[in-house]
Amino acid sequence: MEEIKLKPCPFCGGEPMYTMVNHGEGGMVYCTKCGICTTSVLTNVPYTTYKAATAAWNRRVNEKDGGYMIHSVKCHPDYFKSLKDGTKTFEVRKKDHLYEVGDHLAINEFVPNSQVDPYSMNDGLRQTDGGFYTGDSLLYKITYILDDTEYCKDGMVILGLARCEI
Ligand SMILES: [Zn+2]
Repeated sequence: MEEIKLKPCPFCGGEPMYTMVNHGEGGMVYCTKCGICTTSVLTNVPYTTYKAATAAWNRRVNEKDGGYMIHSVKCHPDYFKSLKDGTKTFEVRKKDHLYEVGDHLAINEFVPNSQVDPYSMNDGLRQTDGGFYTGDSLLYKITYILDDTEYCKDGMVILGLARCEI
């Protein structure tokens, strides 16, 4: 069986893996780090199922510019506000993602150490252990990366950003 090379996870950069599901009747690809997966595929021919599931995993929306990664990150409401009104056009981030120029940054407004106000429910609002996502998010393209410990604290990077329409 020809092995098909899987792209890294578009959300976390983790390593994907193919697995059979439904007692071998179907297959899907999932990320071994964050657990995101394709829908399960069933074609009755095992190799065709494998090909369809891996093709589904490897598909990227922005294929024409090389299938760059989308980094999904949290952002404190104060900073989020300045991004949203356009006065802040950069981000200082921990180097816990492998950022590259041309990658996209999905910035999600996050309120740390608090509980969701039940009267402000909207579709994207989501409680986690450390706080909650307001459901508001912004998409950017990374245009510049400053990764120089002479000007930027070790372990951090400064990202120049161009806003994308969603
Ligand atoms: Zn992942």
